[in-house]
Amino acid sequence: MKLRIAIQKEGRLSEWSVDLLRQMGLRFDTYKRLLIAPCRNHDVDILFLRDDDIPEYVQDGIVDLGIVGDNVVNERAAKVDRLRPLGFGLCRLQIAVPQSGKIKTVKELNGMRIATTYPTILSSYLKKEGVKAELVPISGSVEITPSLNVADAICDLVSTGTTLTTHNLVPIATVMESEAALIANPERCKAADTGARIRDLVMRLDGVINARSKKYVMLNAPQSATEKIRDIMGGSKSPTIVPLADTGLVAVHAVVAEDEFWEKMEKLKSFGATDILVMNIEKMIV
Ligand code: ATP
Ligand code: ZN
Repeated sequence: MKLRIAIQKEGRLSEWSVDLLRQMGLRFDTYKRLLIAPCRNHDVDILFLRDDDIPEYVQDGIVDLGIVGDNVVNERAAKVDRLRPLGFGLCRLQIAVPQSGKIKTVKELNGMRIATTYPTILSSYLKKEGVKAELVPISGSVEITPSLNVADAICDLVSTGTTLTTHNLVPIATVMESEAALIANPERCKAADTGARIRDLVMRLDGVINARSKKYVMLNAPQSATEKIRDIMGGSKSPTIVPLADTGLVAVHAVVAEDEFWEKMEKLKSFGATDILVMNIEKMIV
């Protein structure tokens, strides 16, 4: 049987999901209106669905794997395994109120109306906070409800915050932080055949994720600086250091975490490093 992976058909996660699966080596078409795409080089079908349906499809075993936001998984209260966070689709579910209004804190929401497309997550949050409010569940354009006097506050997804600002709303609480994740059906992970194939895909995914945060650096340096360079380029494994035909010089090759990159470069330059080349790594299997 083929493995099935569900991703969002059209929306904020679609392009990221397709790119990620392609980087994992899966070859498939994505032309419009396609609902299911068989991979040309792997025993996998890709299903294109509304993101809201993905958690249940994974839970019920209609598909084995899915890529969807944590917010949707929690709202649907789906019983799935969260295999890996994916680092895209980052957003926060926030409660916001009219800038010029009286409400400034969550406690002041007692007895107020809050419009949201996330009633499940919001009601458990309010319960935890000991706040009794009236939820107004709606299916979209939550941010206009206060100005229409449909609600006194909203609870909605925010990434940059510009939508809130344009509607004269300010956040007063973060209900949850969310990002896209790879989720899986728990039984399929445990079963011998599907489990092994899921692990193979997760290994590919880890290869892509590891490579993203790392750079491959090559440079030349005076032989006398070898020790100092080894110290700062060490990381988890020692760098490769080879003598150059020019006497007194060595070539150094190493994998460096991107966030430490500039700091290391400055030190290396002070040790006399030249001809520094920095390259993206396509895959990294450790
Ligand atoms: P669908 O038609 O598939 O139901 P949708 O309108 O529900 O799509 P999108 O707006 O495409 O969904 O958002 C998909 C996911 O992207 C969200 O569930 C969330 O995880 C993530 N996301 C990231 N930033 C934001 C944001 N600013 N607003 C909404 N969602 C965001
Ligand atoms: Zn949706």
